[in-house]
Amino acid sequence: MKLTILGSTAGAPSRTNAASGYLVEHDDTTIWMDAGTGTFMELAQRVDPGALDAVVISHTHVDHCSDIFGLYGYLAFGPSGDVPVKVFVPEGAAEHLAAFARASDEHIFNMVLDIEEVAPGAEVFVDDVAVRFGEAIHPVPALVTRIEAGAASLVFSGDTGPGGDLIEMATGANVLLCEASMVGVRDERTYPFHLTASEAGETAAWSGVDRLILTHIGAVMDPQQSLDEAAGAFAGPIEYAAQHTVFEIEGR
Ligand SMILES: [Zn+2]
Ligand SMILES: [Zn+2]
Repeated sequence: MKLTILGSTAGAPSRTNAASGYLVEHDDTTIWMDAGTGTFMELAQRVDPGALDAVVISHTHVDHCSDIFGLYGYLAFGPSGDVPVKVFVPEGAAEHLAAFARASDEHIFNMVLDIEEVAPGAEVFVDDVAVRFGEAIHPVPALVTRIEAGAASLVFSGDTGPGGDLIEMATGANVLLCEASMVGVRDERTYPFHLTASEAGETAAWSGVDRLILTHIGAVMDPQQSLDEAAGAFAGPIEYAAQHTVFEIEGR
């Protein structure tokens, strides 16, 4: 399995990095995981968006979903592709996204995108790639995603605070791609819907993953500080999800 970082900033794209978006490839299967602001162009430079096998949207905050409308335009108004493209979203997101496009059931938005809501605990198959979903702790319905292809496994936290299904979902995975929106020590004033870098490290340690990749790091933050703080809690390899990085994920 191959993971390409299309963008990894938190909240907003920066001048040099798109928001949350990842390309997951296994043999001929391609999955676009999170369609954050600026990631459609990055995707289109690597694969034909019309040949995607599936899209997974972790939640409907704009830094994770805005570029689904780029894919919609590509499929609806050309160059198009093998439609409809399957899109997995959390509860309530199908109506939410369609509303922005002012799309009724017969609207072309719903002709080119086959949007399916999935609940925590759901498992779907994209070709022979298994995709399982869990609950993230966030102000809107949000998913943790586990992708298994052959012997390789990748878990993506989405945006989440402590708790939810992340540790259970990540248990034994080869790679945990984990949000680390904050640095420093959590206290009662800390926003409860994101993780600190050290909490990302703790999650990696408690779930026994092989490697930790830190993402969702704000444009004004220093990723090295996040790496250092995570390393205080996790002894395994830790990398920053720098845009354009390609990670090869292999099973044990
Ligand atoms: Zn976010
Ligand atoms: Zn969010």
